[in-house]
Amino acid sequence: MSASRAYLDWNATTPVLPAAAAAVAEALALTGNPSSIHAEGRAARALLESARKDVARLVGADHENVVFTSGATEGINAVLTQGLCATCGTTRAATTRILALATEHSAIFAAAQEAEVIPVDGNGVIDLGALDAMLSGEPALVAVQLANNESGVIQPVAEVARRVHAAGGALMVDGVQAPGKLAVDLPALGADVLIITAHKFGGPKGVGALVFANGATRLERALLRGGGQERGQRQGTENLPGIAGFAAAARAAANVDFVAMRTLRDRFEGALRQLSNAVFIAGEGVDRLPNTSFFALPGLEAGKVVISADLSGVALSSGSACSSGKVGKSRVIAAMGQEARAPQGACRVSLGPTTTWGELEACLSTLSRQLAQHMQAQVA
Ligand code: PLP
Repeated sequence: MSASRAYLDWNATTPVLPAAAAAVAEALALTGNPSSIHAEGRAARALLESARKDVARLVGADHENVVFTSGATEGINAVLTQGLCATCGTTRAATTRILALATEHSAIFAAAQEAEVIPVDGNGVIDLGALDAMLSGEPALVAVQLANNESGVIQPVAEVARRVHAAGGALMVDGVQAPGKLAVDLPALGADVLIITAHKFGGPKGVGALVFANGATRLERALLRGGGQERGQRQGTENLPGIAGFAAAARAAANVDFVAMRTLRDRFEGALRQLSNAVFIAGEGVDRLPNTSFFALPGLEAGKVVISADLSGVALSSGSACSSGKVGKSRVIAAMGQEARAPQGACRVSLGPTTTWGELEACLSTLSRQLAQHMQAQVA
């Protein structure tokens, strides 16, 4: 990262860790295809299987239940369009009906346009009463994220899993925003499948995993069908360099100091309140990721704040990063019913393990300048 820039958009993506870049380079030097039986193939296979163990360890899962993908969007599409077989050999979770939390990532609503929407409360937390009512119908495949990409709000996933399973359904958890910011333990979450992606915690872009709860849980059909790789669940030659980088990032995630990150984020929010005591901070009163602050300052239009901050050398965002780079209103704020408190959108500052107070100060000074300009414009 350039010394003159403050990168505060770690929920969009993260800088690749040196250890991950080195692992990618080492894997690129391997010739073999992991499916080949000769020595070169066996060397590639050994690296693949050791990476699988590192990724499994990151989320407390069994390595045999890790299926590498090209990232979370692929994992989400695989589960929601091909179906999840949650207890093969006994009963099958019906996949005809899909329920999705209102604040899920757009990939979920794009993959399952027919999804019935589970509402959230004003803090962005799932409405468990509404979930129960929705579960009383035909068994469903339910999608609930672990932590929201915009607000950082954490869902009570274990509680959701208990209710979904009691109703004969299956649970897919988008855990993309958790590794590197939160300890993740798949058995404790109780999800049937967890989706993660490497680039959110120091790994390369374009590689991720589906992690199943047990050996009996799998996709009903593979989304990508070809040479039988990944036990038939995701076929096509594995992206070994990406997977090696993913594994290196997974190993490093264990060393992140979440407490230090939270202290810095809380200090930033304290300073935001000093800029304006009318600041709105989404999900402020509930369990949130320690690195995320999603806020609206009175009078400031989020899209303009982001552009102006960028010109001052500060990278933040006005919600999730879309491929078009478009700046729109936040679906998350709307789902929370908080549009009145953020009428011109909200800005997201997301920190990483190397974020410094100096970077946050740079952000605060651009915000303070913009607030002052707004006040002047009001007076004039
Ligand atoms: N889910 C969440 C919560 C995300 O934040 C993202 C990335 O922005 C995705 C899914 C999609 O991940 P990927 O970029 O690996 O396709």
